[in-house]
Amino acid sequence: MPFGFSTCYHANNTEYVGSDEFIQLMISKGALFGWYFTYIPVGKDAPLSLVASPAQRSYMLKRVREIRAQRPLFVLDFWNDGNYVDGCIAGGRRYFHINAHGDREPCAFIQYACENIHDKPLLEALKNPMIKAYHDHQPCNTDMFRPCPMFDNPEILVEMVNQSGAKSTQEPLSAESVEQLYQKCKPIADKLKPVADKLCQSYQEES
Ligand code: SF4
Repeated sequence: MPFGFSTCYHANNTEYVGSDEFIQLMISKGALFGWYFTYIPVGKDAPLSLVASPAQRSYMLKRVREIRAQRPLFVLDFWNDGNYVDGCIAGGRRYFHINAHGDREPCAFIQYACENIHDKPLLEALKNPMIKAYHDHQPCNTDMFRPCPMFDNPEILVEMVNQSGAKSTQEPLSAESVEQLYQKCKPIADKLKPVADKLCQSYQEES
């Protein structure tokens, strides 16, 4: 049975899960592929101290390309491979997410929705205002290493949620408004921008 690994890189483990030692361990277990997801502080109590720094995100960008070129397993980075898929794939462009309550969210990480599968047929989801807002805003910018409307361009998520009237789908105790999420993500996005834009430019010049 072919299998892979899925891992979340954050401030305390990025250098380890991107290391040759970790990759060798996964190869020795028989993994054929691997997913990397950067930590996102979704939920009002999610610690900001775990967010990977711009240097760590750059490190992972370089490492996934090295691992793909040099090692016998295929790895993907859900953020740093945005250039291969023209940015964000959510909001019905390539997929959307249905949570355990049946809420139709544009992405597993974007926990705001206008509708539930119990209200309307599945195909109707593609016409709902949040999905349309995604369609109208993609791609979120020309730097494909900053594809996310929440983490990298949080002002776009605020606009889409407010335009569509979407509500938080988190449990009542951990629900956070899109403005609260913006306050957390904006400083992170501002710090990443100059680093990611420079990387994007140098990768475009190489290809
Ligand atoms: S919304 Fe963000 S996390 Fe979700 S697919 Fe788009 S870029 Fe990725």
